[in-house]
Amino acid sequence: MASLYIHIPFCVRKCEYCDFVSGVAGEAEIDRYLAALERELALRFPDGFAPDTVFVGGGTPTRLTAGQWRTLGAALRRHLDLSTCREFTSEINPGTLTPDKADALRQAGVDRASFGVQSFDARFLKGLGRAYEAGTATAAVEMARHAGITRISMDLMFALPGQTLPGLRADVQAALEHGTEHLSFYALTYEDDTPLTRQLQSGEVQPCPEELEREMFDTVGTLLAQAGLPRYEVSNFARPGAECAHNLVYWQLGEWHGVGAAAHGLLDGVIHRNPPDWKVYSDAIEQGRLPLRLENAMPPHERAETLLLMGLRLTRGVELRRFRQFAGESFHTLCAGPAADLIERGLLELNETHVRCTHAGMLVLDEIIVQLASGMKAKA
Ligand code: SF4
Repeated sequence: MASLYIHIPFCVRKCEYCDFVSGVAGEAEIDRYLAALERELALRFPDGFAPDTVFVGGGTPTRLTAGQWRTLGAALRRHLDLSTCREFTSEINPGTLTPDKADALRQAGVDRASFGVQSFDARFLKGLGRAYEAGTATAAVEMARHAGITRISMDLMFALPGQTLPGLRADVQAALEHGTEHLSFYALTYEDDTPLTRQLQSGEVQPCPEELEREMFDTVGTLLAQAGLPRYEVSNFARPGAECAHNLVYWQLGEWHGVGAAAHGLLDGVIHRNPPDWKVYSDAIEQGRLPLRLENAMPPHERAETLLLMGLRLTRGVELRRFRQFAGESFHTLCAGPAADLIERGLLELNETHVRCTHAGMLVLDEIIVQLASGMKAKA
């Protein structure tokens, strides 16, 4: 069974650090986009579709009004069978949720809320240009619960300019006090051409020292493991059984459809891409053009390399059987040399069924992938 990703590219305003495909639009433009989304569902699934998991991401899906969410929910019901769907997540910007909207999300099928909290500290929210005040997250979680969305996940950031270890501990504590079953903790990155990066370049903000960032990475892992949410992916932590099923599809290189502007999907080793601009997307879909862009099927070694790239992010690692299924040859045949070196350096572990990174390896994941990939290229 394949999964389904739906992209909502609209936001209340643009955050200082953001380079995602997202922007500000008026209601008429959003209504037109939602009509295009439904048309894409009809074109893509003429006989209906029962997704394994659904994830609505953005942008800010909760930038839509409650009425627009009802429209989206009705479109989903017309084209999808959600009776066997294991998980239906929507990203939620806490400042944009209302009780009515929370009800509309639940009616559309959402059973898991992923809150983009980033920090519980008002100073950092302001610095990141987030469109809500500290304390808003608490009210938003209550609204979601009240509407019947009981699975709560939160995204937080660390390595923020001026953030200290006690400050980070306070954020972890606050997240846990909200009864969250899943947490994503990402280090702030300075993407090209964002306002925050320009502030960094002009010396207005100071980056977090590398050593402190590493200490924060370890601190988050330790605190959450003690609280019963062990790390299961480099940046993700969950109570056992509450791991994000949809994201596991990506990390294990499963199959999914991507619907909406900028969305991409992977089916039978072929990546499908929609154009990033929502106006270009709406124009094309209105003319009945689908698929919008199809990339060449990934050759076996490239597919296996992508599996390593994604799967080694998981603490459980990559299943050797799946690697062989994609590469056409075993991990031992293709990667024995570099793997032996990485194992000796304490960065990689190999058993009969899986290859996985050690804790030290997780910190130098890019280096590990490059080394394993170079071994594969030499054998290609
Ligand atoms: S809400 Fe999310 S997608 Fe929108 S601008 Fe902020 S970080 Fe980017």
